[in-house]
Amino acid sequence: MSLITVGTMAFDAIETPFGKVDRIVGGSATYVAYAASNFVKPVQQISIIGNDFPEAELNELKKRGVQTDGVEQVPDKKSFFWSGRYHLDMNSRDTLVTDLNVLADFNPVVPDAYQGAEFLMLGNLMPKLQISVIDQLKHRPKLIVMDTMNFWMDIAMDDLKTVLKKVDVLLVNDAEARQLSGEHSIVKAAKSIMQMGPKFLIIKKGEHGALLFHENHVFFAPALPLEDVFDPTGAGDTFAGGFIGHLAKTKDISFDNMKTAIIVGSAMASFCVEKFGPERMKEITKTDIDERIHQFVQLVNFDIDLV
Ligand code: AMP
Repeated sequence: MSLITVGTMAFDAIETPFGKVDRIVGGSATYVAYAASNFVKPVQQISIIGNDFPEAELNELKKRGVQTDGVEQVPDKKSFFWSGRYHLDMNSRDTLVTDLNVLADFNPVVPDAYQGAEFLMLGNLMPKLQISVIDQLKHRPKLIVMDTMNFWMDIAMDDLKTVLKKVDVLLVNDAEARQLSGEHSIVKAAKSIMQMGPKFLIIKKGEHGALLFHENHVFFAPALPLEDVFDPTGAGDTFAGGFIGHLAKTKDISFDNMKTAIIVGSAMASFCVEKFGPERMKEITKTDIDERIHQFVQLVNFDIDLV
């Protein structure tokens, strides 16, 4: 069972109320791969990097069953660079710098060996590149999940609406759901976005969990209350990687199994925020993941007598 992931592999500079890093590996596809590879192998990565991207980081990913045949390395250019500063609540952030660098002339090519993948995770990336990957696949995957952000809504809304018509699941945060739909009510926003294409919609609400919408159903997964959150960067991508990783592992794309998948995604995201960048994702084991999922079950499990 294979999974194709597409997105950025980057350097990030991050400032939170608890610390600062000037240059740490990041990128949407990096986080998705670290999370998903706990559940499914191979993870077939499509991205682009410059001459500055560390070989050791690629090796870390390869060790986890991530194939990098689809990661293009440009010898004379720099990797994508993003810099952000978090507010005190750690839920909201300002983007300070987005240097596209190699991303500016990226034309993703799906390697022949990736054809036939049953799951596709379109990580946060220019919408027209997300479309190009879908169009190159000879067989439509069983499930296409897509992530995006306000940056692309601001500069490429028409392309974004074209990708939306081609995907099954969209992941956005609450502010992005409002921006995309023009609706303030989250429920109205969800209805309007599901009419744009995706049959399933996940609205992430940071430390307040995530909502899964499908037709007239809605399911809520909390976020684990953590004592220390060091860096929320990549939490959304890690959530996405856990979500699609679980679906690919179980090969079941029903709404009921998606409920489990958003709990798995929330559990993976809860690790990501414990250290800067993807550092924590490199340390965790299957036992850590199982224990954390168990904590989620305890968090929301209750018996109640009808009153
Ligand atoms: P998240 O915190 O889940 O939204 O993901 C943060 C990661 O997304 C960082 O590691 C960035 O390198 C990457 N990123 C930031 N802006 C963009 C963008 N416009 N397109 C693609 N990836 C981005």
